[in-house]
Amino acid sequence: MQLVIQNLSKTYSNGVQALKNVSLTINQGMYGLLGPNGAGKSSLMRTIATLQDADSGSITLGNLDVLRDKHEVRKILGYLPQEFGVYPKVTAETMLDHIADLKGIVDKKQRKEIVSTLLDRVNLAHVKSKNLGTFSGGMKQRFGVAQALIGNPKLIIVDEPTAGLDPAERNRFYNLLSEIGENTIVILSTHIVEDVTNLCNDMAIICLGEVIAQGNPNTLVDSMQGKIWSKSIEKSEMNVYRNSFQVISTQLKAGKTQIHVVSDVQPNESFKPVEAGLEDVYFSKISERMDVVTV
Ligand code: ADP
Repeated sequence: MQLVIQNLSKTYSNGVQALKNVSLTINQGMYGLLGPNGAGKSSLMRTIATLQDADSGSITLGNLDVLRDKHEVRKILGYLPQEFGVYPKVTAETMLDHIADLKGIVDKKQRKEIVSTLLDRVNLAHVKSKNLGTFSGGMKQRFGVAQALIGNPKLIIVDEPTAGLDPAERNRFYNLLSEIGENTIVILSTHIVEDVTNLCNDMAIICLGEVIAQGNPNTLVDSMQGKIWSKSIEKSEMNVYRNSFQVISTQLKAGKTQIHVVSDVQPNESFKPVEAGLEDVYFSKISERMDVVTV
């Protein structure tokens, strides 16, 4: 099954054009949608999840017209929104059972089986009788994945899932998502480059409502090899460098500021060549469109 988005546009009533002619083809596996805050990722995710309409364009999932056959799409869709609220005084097991009921699984015994399998899968079986309010951020996210998986969805959308997770929780979450991506379309929307590096074999970068790059992350990185140069400077020199070179990122390292510059040739002898990474691709693409603020 394939998700095909063609020329999707959306302007909100306040005049903000959140999506401008977005076209993407998304296959089975983990797909990364990377972009800074305000890029339009959630607007796109909510439209694919049938929660809001577009002004123009089309989305098809297999034979389904996503913008029209909303009811049919919802049957095969799992959605983990950015703000996933939980009822704090309800146990994980009771809540999942309730959501399964809402999703149309009416047989009580079948529901019990599904809930038990899912709790195992997201590694929450041991806390199934604990109230959701006692869960850590990572546990809540894994609970969110469990509810998104009810009904064996063909398309799963996860919006900014690792924000606020500690490194161990993030790793556990990565493992869970990559398992799911083996036989489903999973769209991972994020502003964290590392999420995409670790998980996705296909991706797009979106900025100010437009798709500005897409493809395999390794191929995108290869296209930047030999063009990234690094130099350690004093913070006070920053403006001078910004004015003279295409600075794509800055990072504080041991009290000094390390800059990455993109250039086809060595800018001057004080710059060292560095191996390009996905961060360099990301920052160089978005710096062509907007001022990049990095740390
Ligand atoms: P992202 O998920 O990449 O942070 P969003 O899709 O949330 O981006 O937002 C894209 C742009 O649309 C932003 O400028 C945001 O302020 C604006 N926006 C998002 N939702 C609404 C809304 N319901 N009404 C008006 N503007 C919105």
